[in-house]
Amino acid sequence: MTAATIINGKQISEEIREGIALEVQQLSKQGVRPGLAVVLVGDDPASHVYVRNKEKACHDLGFYSEVHRLPADSSQEEVLALVDKLNKQSSIHGILVQLPLPGHIQEKAVIDAIAVEKDVDGFHPVNVGNLVIGDDSLLPCTPAGVIELIKRTGVEISGKHAVVIGRSNIVGKPVSLLLQRENATVTMCHSRTSNMPEIAKQADILVVAIGRANMIDASYVKPGAVIIDVGMNRLENGKLAGDVDFASVKEISGPITPVPGGVGPMTITMLMKNTLLAAKRLSGIE
Ligand code: NAP
Repeated sequence: MTAATIINGKQISEEIREGIALEVQQLSKQGVRPGLAVVLVGDDPASHVYVRNKEKACHDLGFYSEVHRLPADSSQEEVLALVDKLNKQSSIHGILVQLPLPGHIQEKAVIDAIAVEKDVDGFHPVNVGNLVIGDDSLLPCTPAGVIELIKRTGVEISGKHAVVIGRSNIVGKPVSLLLQRENATVTMCHSRTSNMPEIAKQADILVVAIGRANMIDASYVKPGAVIIDVGMNRLENGKLAGDVDFASVKEISGPITPVPGGVGPMTITMLMKNTLLAAKRLSGIE
């Protein structure tokens, strides 16, 4: 069998960003500049890296951006007051509160406070509900990136059997809903699933989001299946590993995402796409 195609998430992400940058130029002629506000509470080092990457993406694409770095002991009321201010600020079209928040702040209360039309992470219950019933909504970024990567392989999703391993609210569940929207037949697996290799082996499209380094080996994979690995696991040696054992799986799979360089780069790109969309909608352009 010939070696699997590697799905180059970095390159696909760059292509999408070029399109976004062009749209930003067009919008500027109508006096609109997409604006993203990121709220970061506390000192989590990984969160600081993610926020810097988002700031850079805004800068590169010509977006207006604000980053609000609040101390770890900020009260929930202070965070809610900031969200309220950003909800009303016309230069801001997207609001992202970087998770996790410190333990004394209820994440749900903060997410629920974000204006639905500025919820570019797609985590507000109204956006989640609209996704479930198939209405227009701002889609969660990583799941939207997963679907985009599958589409870019050229493999038709409609009619295929997709298996999603992992049922979190931020990845597994929305991915399964988006795959159903694309007319796949979807099976969900999770930590209580029996016979997971047998089920996964039926998948034409296998999406893995469990947070277990290299767990999914070739025994879970049907030859030729599309493999999307959402996992991002930091190994003891400092390297990043996916949930899929890339080396063994790529020997039998169809198109497959690497880690890093697969799903990861798509998440911020989809955030930028959502912010652009929110800017157009809030400006009455779409
Ligand atoms: P999560 O909230 O911890 O959910 C993990 C899911 O996997 C749960 O549904 C859990 O089942 C299931 N699971 C755990 N161990 C399992 C096992 N041995 N067999 C079958 N299912 C198992 O994780 P998450 O937030 O969805 O993230 C998953 C991975 O994606 C992590 O590595 C994370 O870092 C990565 N991620 C990457 C991006 C990106 O931008 N690339 C974005 C988000 C997340 P139960 O529900 O039964 O507990």
